[in-house]
Amino acid sequence: SWKQRLEKAAEGHYVLPKTKSMKVDADLFLSDKLLWGEGPEEPGLEDAVFDQVVNAASFPGVTRVAVTPDCHVGYGVPIGTVVETDGILLPTAAGYDIGCGMVQLQTSLMAEDVADPVKRRKWIEEVTRRIAVGVGASRVQKQRRVTDRTFAEVVRHGAKALGRGSSITERDFIPVEDDRVDIPERAFGKRDQLGSLGGGNHFTEMQVDQDGRVWVMLHTGSRGFGWNIAKHFFVEGAAQLGLKSRSEDFVWLDAESALGREYWNLHNMAANFAVANRLIIGEAVCAALEDVFGGTASVYYEISHNLIQKESGKFVARKGATRAFPGKHPALKGTPWEKTGHPILIPGSMETGSAILFAEQGAQKSIYSVNHGSGRRLSRGEARRVLDQSVTDKRMAEAGILLNTRTTPLDESGPCYKNLDDVLETVEMAGLARVAHRLKPVACIKG
Ligand code: 5GP
Ligand code: MN
Ligand code: MN
Repeated sequence: SWKQRLEKAAEGHYVLPKTKSMKVDADLFLSDKLLWGEGPEEPGLEDAVFDQVVNAASFPGVTRVAVTPDCHVGYGVPIGTVVETDGILLPTAAGYDIGCGMVQLQTSLMAEDVADPVKRRKWIEEVTRRIAVGVGASRVQKQRRVTDRTFAEVVRHGAKALGRGSSITERDFIPVEDDRVDIPERAFGKRDQLGSLGGGNHFTEMQVDQDGRVWVMLHTGSRGFGWNIAKHFFVEGAAQLGLKSRSEDFVWLDAESALGREYWNLHNMAANFAVANRLIIGEAVCAALEDVFGGTASVYYEISHNLIQKESGKFVARKGATRAFPGKHPALKGTPWEKTGHPILIPGSMETGSAILFAEQGAQKSIYSVNHGSGRRLSRGEARRVLDQSVTDKRMAEAGILLNTRTTPLDESGPCYKNLDDVLETVEMAGLARVAHRLKPVACIKG
């Protein structure tokens, strides 16, 4: 098995040496516990992940591959993969939710200010009154329609179109080099989803940190707009390469080809959509918070975890991985994060908690990237089979975590995800980043 071929480079760092099909070695950031498991409850990493790591390293143009400690099986390459390429774009290494990511809101409130469950319930109502929640939901149901002119500005200039910039976002805007590119009809049809949370594990969550300060964490992406763009290129790319099935796994594009350039422009539009979506929702959530609790709330940081970006002349694709630039990184020059590095926002689960990290210089080893969460451990189906509803509801009630749903979604409860402590310990052990804040949930609105 692939596992037997791994070489331990340091604590928290294994190398999968290159085989015939692989272009480069793969660096895997895993503790012994995450890799090999511990007892019958924790089986360790499944072999299917390694098949996908090999796939990631075997595409043309790949110059580096890194895998984060929260990795698990995805389409084509694992969730938790970073691929650096030269002249090649890999749609599968951005995935379907192009630009999915996080916003963290900072507030002036302390734990005692949000201790009253009646007020927290009111906050949940105020947020769901302002933003659309759920799989197909769009903004029109909640607010005035986004004009086509605003939409065009947003997909071309992202945060900048909303008058926000690099003090609070990963990037001011994501460059769309040729804005005459046609937006696929199906994607354009989803433009009203700007300002909507979406379904699944997208969420808005009120949290209290180790010092009693109140934060809000928000997770959403490019909704149907980005999904339809991704789909379009899986289909077109497969046709061009003559692939018959599993196109998600094997599509690659020459960045200089017509299709490659089209993908790059549309991928970047989807990413701008996602950033703007998060900021629009974030500001609505701030307003709801100030209404219910008083005090002030504002955006602390915004960052994607499914995105291809140009870094030092190469493409760096992070799929379920977060950028991690430490202090003194040239890309942070002139931003408030120049000295400290930018915040790294890591959700864990709606039950067990989350974290904010800052990168160390050692992040260079992982292509300046760390994990984007704690990573799924139980599939949704498995979760519904093995977890007990009333036990789970009771545990959530005792922890004082309020939800927008009547019962706890079992497939999103704490045991569905890997232990965040194990994942964070690995990141610190490998010298990639250090934990600055630990956050405990007190109210969560699931999409
Ligand atoms: P993904 O982007 O892969 O869909 O999810 C990112 C991560 O979010 C998951 O790996 C998981 O650790 C975390 N997560 C999922 N749902 C919740 C939630 O409701 N609250 C928090 N704090 N984290 C969550
Ligand atoms: Mn997403
Ligand atoms: Mn996500």
